[in-house]
Amino acid sequence: MSEQCVFCGHKHLIDKNTRYIYQKDQQMLVVDNVPCLECAFCGEQYFDALVLHQIENDYLAISQHQKQPARTMQVAVEEFSNLLS
Ligand SMILES: [Zn+2]
Repeated sequence: MSEQCVFCGHKHLIDKNTRYIYQKDQQMLVVDNVPCLECAFCGEQYFDALVLHQIENDYLAISQHQKQPARTMQVAVEEFSNLLS
């Protein structure tokens, strides 16, 4: 993985655990505490290809009912044009 931010060119990337939201069609999988590198300057996050592959596999297992997720949650959805100003 690059030790420099591709986005802003900053050289200080920090190891972090973050929430990753995987989306496919109308489905979503939220994964907490995913390891990533985060740019200390612009906040851009970088994930290892292997980590992303694992998340995709897990999504497939859950959507094909081969696995139960740790928990589920309700999510509110809005249209931007309906937002309060
Ligand atoms: Zn950056």
